[in-house]
Amino acid sequence: MEVLKNIDLSGLNTFGVKATAQYFAAFDRLEDLKALTKEFVDESLFILGGGSNILFTKNVGDLVLHNRIGGIKEVDEGGNDVRITAGAGVKWHDLVMYCVNRNLGGMENLSLIPGNAGAAPMQNIGAYGVEIKDVFVELEALHLKEGYVRTFKKDECNFGYRESVFKNELKNQFVILNITCRLKRSPSNFNISYGTIEKKLEEMGVAEISVKAVSDAVIAIRQSKLPDPSIIGNAGSFFKNPVVGLPFFSVLKMKHPDMPHYPQQDGMKIPAAWLIEQCGFKGLRRGDVGCHKTQPLVIVNYGNATGEDILSFSEEIIQTVCHRFGIRLTREVNVY
Ligand code: FAD
Ligand code: NAP
Repeated sequence: MEVLKNIDLSGLNTFGVKATAQYFAAFDRLEDLKALTKEFVDESLFILGGGSNILFTKNVGDLVLHNRIGGIKEVDEGGNDVRITAGAGVKWHDLVMYCVNRNLGGMENLSLIPGNAGAAPMQNIGAYGVEIKDVFVELEALHLKEGYVRTFKKDECNFGYRESVFKNELKNQFVILNITCRLKRSPSNFNISYGTIEKKLEEMGVAEISVKAVSDAVIAIRQSKLPDPSIIGNAGSFFKNPVVGLPFFSVLKMKHPDMPHYPQQDGMKIPAAWLIEQCGFKGLRRGDVGCHKTQPLVIVNYGNATGEDILSFSEEIIQTVCHRFGIRLTREVNVY
């Protein structure tokens, strides 16, 4: 295990922005990670997975630890339940495909999300009405400063909408080593009511819905709509969808009768993409930064945008939406 100096991170974040790590080490074993955290005990450490939910706005001063712990294990729990444990460095989509190819149900709606399994609990990744919390059992994580390994059960992770304890109270304290999920063998219940999944299944001529068919539909929708980061830099949805209180929603709805909205336990969710589009940002390009032409919630780097350029463009969106609708968007992407 080698500690490298002055490493360019532009190929290691999906925005493709330039940033340099003063020190950089990749690890694929717990022992190596422990040795690194001891050696750099007085420094601040940054954990990097697939780099698909991070915006670097400056160089990373201390050590960047690149998690490459691999391996997928399967344990039959009896009945229809199967426990799958994946190393934090396994690509999330590879894990989903491992399950889809074995007809294990639960993760199919989460197909084609970039990044690694270890980062998935960080923001409780979600798409098409499913979140990792729906299949999550537990994870193991190393405390960076104290060096012990702790198991976090689902109810200790405080999962919320694109939130977890690791993004909040325990931010930068633990490195997630592996995650365990529970899937269903040969399932018969599928979540296809969200977005255009049902329509896509029809278009695909699917007679019998299966784990594979839902996964294929999700992949096809995503490929038709979302920019591929290997072609154009982005980190997926830049903002979260706001949830507003019902009294405020009623006022907004009177002013904007066409506004899409989805009831939530704690109020009404309004798609941030709609708010951004109404403010004229859809497809808008300023220098090398812009809002994607089919999904304005995705901010893109057309080439040489810096992290600062992207951050200030996002601030302009926040201010404009706030001025027009009285809703303050919050960023989903982690800003460093
Ligand atoms: P990174 O970007 O490397 O890290 C993200 C954060 O997690 C950082 O703060 C990092 O320090 C921390 N971290 C990473 N690994 C660990 C670890 N092992 N232990 C502790 N901390 C860690 N997200 C969704 O929820 N739903 C989607 O549908 C979705 N679609 C996307 C589509 C595109 C095209 C893109 C580019 C992104 C999308 N995302 C989506 C966002 C992103 O893919 C996910 O949030 C993903 O889980 C990030 O994983 P990563 O390994 O790339 O994390
Ligand atoms: P979409 O289907 O065009 O829908 C627009 C928004 O409306 C979504 O953000 C979604 O909220 C909400 N929505 C749609 N149908 C809904 C329903 N039946 N009930 C409640 N809310 C509903 O969205 P999209 O951009 O193509 O994305 C599809 C899915 O992939 C979404 O779940 C989205 O979150 C996910 N995705 C996430 C990222 C990311 O980086 N986080 C990137 C791309 C796609 P939710 O976002 O809350 O689901």
